[in-house]
Amino acid sequence: MRYIRRNGPPGEGNQALVPLGIIAREELTGELEDALIEAADRERPLALFWLSVGETNGQRPQPPSPSLLRHCAERIAARLRDGDVIGYMGEGEFAVLVNSIYHPADAVSYARSLLDAFQRPFLDGKLPIYAEVNLGVAVHPHDGDRPVRLLRAAEQAARKAGSEASRKRVRLAFSAETLNSQQHRYEQIVEGLNTALERDEFTLYYQPMLYLPGEQVAGAEALIRWNSGALGRVPPDEFIPTAERSGAIVEIGKWVLAQACKQARSWQESGLDVRVAVNLSARQLQERDLTDYVAGVLEETGLDPMRLELELTESVYAEPQTAITVLKRLHEIGVRVAIDDFGTGYSSLSYLARFPRDTLKIDRTFIAQTTHNEDVAAVVGSVIVMAHALGVETVAEGVETPEHLDFLRAHNCDLSQGYLHSPPLPPAEFERWLRSHQGKPHPELSLRPLQVEGRTANGNGHRPAKGRRPTKGRAA
Ligand code: C2E
Ligand code: MG
Ligand code: MG
Repeated sequence: MRYIRRNGPPGEGNQALVPLGIIAREELTGELEDALIEAADRERPLALFWLSVGETNGQRPQPPSPSLLRHCAERIAARLRDGDVIGYMGEGEFAVLVNSIYHPADAVSYARSLLDAFQRPFLDGKLPIYAEVNLGVAVHPHDGDRPVRLLRAAEQAARKAGSEASRKRVRLAFSAETLNSQQHRYEQIVEGLNTALERDEFTLYYQPMLYLPGEQVAGAEALIRWNSGALGRVPPDEFIPTAERSGAIVEIGKWVLAQACKQARSWQESGLDVRVAVNLSARQLQERDLTDYVAGVLEETGLDPMRLELELTESVYAEPQTAITVLKRLHEIGVRVAIDDFGTGYSSLSYLARFPRDTLKIDRTFIAQTTHNEDVAAVVGSVIVMAHALGVETVAEGVETPEHLDFLRAHNCDLSQGYLHSPPLPPAEFERWLRSHQGKPHPELSLRPLQVEGRTANGNGHRPAKGRRPTKGRAA
């Protein structure tokens, strides 16, 4: 992870922060001014985090010692991403400017990641020291479009976090405007989802899954897209959790299942034999009629049950008994079951042994690290061995580079899915891709970054803003 490094000391007596790429208040204000102009041009939000750090040793919080200050700075810097800017504002206060968010709601997960950095104690000699942290969050445009206003809103939110009667050591507060905008967005999405089906606003994209080592096509994962009349394109990572909370996912999920099975059957009839993978939310497993519904769709479309795979994340383990019963029934009718995003949730070997499952999809955050983190590479290698011992097929998600593919081949992973092969495509384009791919035993793989639905295929979805000076230093 990189962050912008600037010349110029972050204030008297804090020279130790300079090598970490931390800039002074005046410089941060200048950066913020530039970033606000860019954000307005791109119509993108921009988040500002204010961290107020103190030292606690079981008594009243004290101002941070120089060594704690440096430790804190290191932990913050390690959480930053390309293009983020960090400034020291004096007296134990830092400001972090983040322009890689797509929606104010993204600031929530970023804030939690920053707070996580302070859960572990710091070691001073052998003594653990706990930092006390108040984190305030403000977001452009809701909190204003001038640096001074945004800084003030974030600082006030941090003070509010500190003044709340909480016994927590690490506290978080959003500016009132940010909170309002998040609530407002949530309500807009709930409202939009209510009519999205009848307005025909959903489509399914398909992303190929290929057998290794030969790269023959095994099937496709169906991924929903929502183009809302009122809100424009809303990514599934944003609206699916809302649909789960509001319950709308049940009807949406039924539509996805029916649509994907119809499509797979129609491809089969035209000579393209692929299986289709459909994501199922844990909420859908609670529905009594799920198995009947799936059986009905298979009968109506005439799709062979073995051609349908249902992907479930590990969150279903939270209610293992219901999940096991439902998945067993689905298995009985011949449908395949996949565990999605393996490694990110409640994975427990005992569940894995008890659960009906045919496929294990290794989460893309692990695949991304296989080429530069030996420990992660060893874990992925062992997961493949373990899955095979249980008779389970393995799929690697988020395969983006030929190096990832080499690694997976060397470790006998069964299938590969990712931008390296193809991004998710609308049905007609997927069909074209499939026909051209089937003619080629070894497709040309290129390192050229693909333009994928508005992001580059480098995995973090963020390009450094234009006009920025080069980034330096590695912070993680
Ligand atoms: P998922 O099931 O893990 O789907 C894979 C996600 O990874 C997709 O994001 C896909 O576009 C993205 N992806 C594929 N290859 C690469 C790659 O090489 N690099 C990177 N960085 N990403 C890659 P998408 O389509 O935005 O979907 C996000 C999530 O939303 C899905 O994660 C799934 O959990 C959920 N979702 C999508 N469609 C449905 C649906 O119909 N029903 C339910 N319940 N959830 C869905
Ligand atoms: Mg999936
Ligand atoms: Mg997945």
